[in-house]
Amino acid sequence: MYDLYIEHCTEKNLDPVKHSYYRHIFNTEFNLRFHRPNSDTCSKCDGFNNIIKNSDNAEKVNTAKVSQTVHHRKAEKARESKQNDSNVNKESTDTFVICFDLQQALPTPHITTSKVFYLRQLWTYNFCIHNLVTGKSDMYVWDETIASRGSQEIGSCLIHYITNAVPQNVTKIIAYSDSCGGQNKNKNIAKLFMYLVKATRIQEIHHKFLEPGHTFMEYDQDFGIIEKVKRKNPQVFVPEHWRQLIKSSCKKFTVHEMSKENFFSFSNLNNIISDPKKDTEKRAIKWREIQYFFFTKESERFCFFYKTSLDPEFPFNKCLCPGKAAGRPKLTLKDTFDQLNREFKNKRAEVEKFADSFGIRSSKIS
Ligand SMILES: [Zn+2]
Repeated sequence: MYDLYIEHCTEKNLDPVKHSYYRHIFNTEFNLRFHRPNSDTCSKCDGFNNIIKNSDNAEKVNTAKVSQTVHHRKAEKARESKQNDSNVNKESTDTFVICFDLQQALPTPHITTSKVFYLRQLWTYNFCIHNLVTGKSDMYVWDETIASRGSQEIGSCLIHYITNAVPQNVTKIIAYSDSCGGQNKNKNIAKLFMYLVKATRIQEIHHKFLEPGHTFMEYDQDFGIIEKVKRKNPQVFVPEHWRQLIKSSCKKFTVHEMSKENFFSFSNLNNIISDPKKDTEKRAIKWREIQYFFFTKESERFCFFYKTSLDPEFPFNKCLCPGKAAGRPKLTLKDTFDQLNREFKNKRAEVEKFADSFGIRSSKIS
């Protein structure tokens, strides 16, 4: 922290105070404490630090220092962007600012018996959409007998949220998520957002990603609250208990039970929107590097804008995705439950055996 302070003073051309004085001020003027981090550290930062501390190659060390500075600047810009978006929204009634993610899967049964380590458990999923202005969260809960946890499930929860939880006067959505390719940053979600700005009242969707490794978001606090209650309740026998537990964790949580009918297949979207491959400048779309997607009703065809930074000065690139079918889309998102939970079919017998041994009727898990 003192090193960062020295860096800050050098940047601002200020005379830094001595370490001892800095320490004295920190200890007496601020009510702040340090504790050992109990979650993951950033693997990119770990990699850079390793090279900087241990490599004899000066050129390599220099490159690592430059890359680390860029990485930290990107993380800082992303934090600033989220903060600014949350502030702007307080005066605006037509904009919703949210962040979303899936909680680590919850096992059923959740018990202290050692038997639990030898049998496969039934997973319950909880997808959280946290409103950055009100601090309230919508929790979408289902278990793997209902659906899996890929991009189509995430997209289906977002459809549910926009259709039922977002007020009619809201026409602009700013969403933050991490860059998980399987769930949040992929062509299915991009196509869904292209579709939503064309087919619903929503005029604009801004989907922004924090710098990997520095993705602390408000839903992490929500999941922390649930985990705390979970630790105090060592016994969960049916998925319904998870919904009750989440609901009782915090007054700011609204829990939605997701049924089979709430999940959609996005295969229909492929007829009207093609896979994004190259932008209008003929550059290949590098999904991993994208930090910002912008979707707007204004555009004449299915397209999106993207950039690799959350710096407002950074320009957007455009990508067109015209599909085979022309005209205004008329989409029926169909239910394809049978394809979605293929994974569960393989372990069904084992989960039922487990349930039987605890006297839980199999009907509870089917
Ligand atoms: Zn990092």
